[in-house]
Amino acid sequence: MTYDLAVIGGGPAGVAGALTAALAGLRVALLDSSVRLGGQYFRHAAEPGPAPGLDRFLRQARALDARADVLLGHQVWSVTREPDGDLVVYSVARGAGSQDRQVLKARRLLIATGAHDRPLPFPGWDLPGVLTAGGAQALLKGDGVVAGRRIVVSGTGPFLLPVATGLAGAGARVLGVFEANGGLGLARYPLLALGKAGEAAGYAASLARHRVPYRTRRAVVAAHGEREVEAVTVARLDQAWNVLATRVVECDTVAVGYGFVPQIELGTQLGCATRDDVDGTPVLDVDAAQRTSVPGVWAAGEPTGVGGWLLSETEGRIAGRAVVADAGTPQPVPGALLRRRERGRAFGEALQRAYPVMPGWQGWLRDDTLVCRCEEVPLARVREARDLGATDARSIKLLARPGMGWCQGRICGYAVSCLAGEPPRPPRRPIAQPVTLGTLADLPDVSEISDVPPAH
Ligand SMILES: Cc1cc2nc3c(=O)[nH]c(=O)nc-3n(C[C@H](O)[C@H](O)[C@H](O)COP(=O)(O)OP(=O)(O)OC[C@H]3O[C@@H](n4cnc5c(N)ncnc54)[C@H](O)[C@@H]3O)c2cc1C
Repeated sequence: MTYDLAVIGGGPAGVAGALTAALAGLRVALLDSSVRLGGQYFRHAAEPGPAPGLDRFLRQARALDARADVLLGHQVWSVTREPDGDLVVYSVARGAGSQDRQVLKARRLLIATGAHDRPLPFPGWDLPGVLTAGGAQALLKGDGVVAGRRIVVSGTGPFLLPVATGLAGAGARVLGVFEANGGLGLARYPLLALGKAGEAAGYAASLARHRVPYRTRRAVVAAHGEREVEAVTVARLDQAWNVLATRVVECDTVAVGYGFVPQIELGTQLGCATRDDVDGTPVLDVDAAQRTSVPGVWAAGEPTGVGGWLLSETEGRIAGRAVVADAGTPQPVPGALLRRRERGRAFGEALQRAYPVMPGWQGWLRDDTLVCRCEEVPLARVREARDLGATDARSIKLLARPGMGWCQGRICGYAVSCLAGEPPRPPRRPIAQPVTLGTLADLPDVSEISDVPPAH
């Protein structure tokens, strides 16, 4: 059996796209590596709460579950194309061995794989107690776990606010939010900021209620401790993020986030064209119908550019309609949906302009600061590679091994590109996620793929 549509990713984009197609009668499979639908924003373990849109998302997820094959806990590591044009989606059940692999066929593919955190290295960032902001948020939302007791939140962008207020609301003592950029932020784009004014006021009130100081032009530039974080150095920064002055803050946890990196590996694997987003990050290039440059492949949500859950959901709905039209039933896209996408994209671009990553962070590093934590590559080795003539991130990787480990450069890739002095390049990985050799050695014959048992 061949599905009409395979959707990879069960966040707001993937669920909206899959449901739109399933409601129109298409046979749809959705795969997500998580144990429940929701993606990064709606990953709540608990009942509907105050998160905007959560009730609606849960209704969509229930409707999808009844109409499509939802394969949770399935990490997609490759998608290939057969000579007859069908796409073959390879996945493994998360954390399991080669027995739990799954292969399915589909005529069309929707890539809705979201984004991951973008951390920057600093001395001590490899100590237990240093987390990404998204990681701290995921622990809290997904598992109800508060990352620490005395927490410092640092980085850039408005995402630091829900992280800090969430942690403070859950009982942690948040000692400060340190925003590396200046005070104006999104206020430089008043029309766009207007739509978010209520949300921003809510965060400001929550920070005030919990007595959490919010300081701009400040960042954590080092973490200290014998076995785990005991304190951090917070620096006052100039506009380029060079350090002007420092002070030490005692804490047990640091949550750091410098924006997000769209996950586009499955698209680049298939040869989809990319473009550079406003901040230079490669994203999948799509047309007005969310169609990529590869026939039969659509993309929605953060792989096409980061702009928040509502933009992701809107793009998912537009992509779903385009897929239904491609299957033979014309589906006009309502103007309201197109306008919402335009507003969402403008907001996403304004965010990137308002909260850039400035080059001064490279001056926070010491020779022994690990740039790549998986392969334990210190800055000195990256510099040696550059001195040997490596002028791009790929050559540095070949000479010094940053990005060769388990995370395949997801954590250090951005930093290595900056240190190489080049913009990040689109990832080219024949295997998008780590899999065992057993999985690779024992692939099934694609021509014998039969019905896939639904996971529910
Ligand atoms: C760690 C993190 C935490 C965030 N928390 C918040 C928050 O609290 N508030 C907020 O406003 N915004 C948050 N964001 C931003 C948020 O990602 C978006 O606003 C929104 O969730 C994007 O929706 P999406 O559908 O595009 O992607 P996502 O919601 O990220 O959904 C993508 C889904 O694809 C799945 N996936 C990815 N690759 C594969 C693969 N190879 N195989 C199988 N499944 C795969 C993922 O498991 C995920 O469920 C967070 C982002 C990150 C990275």
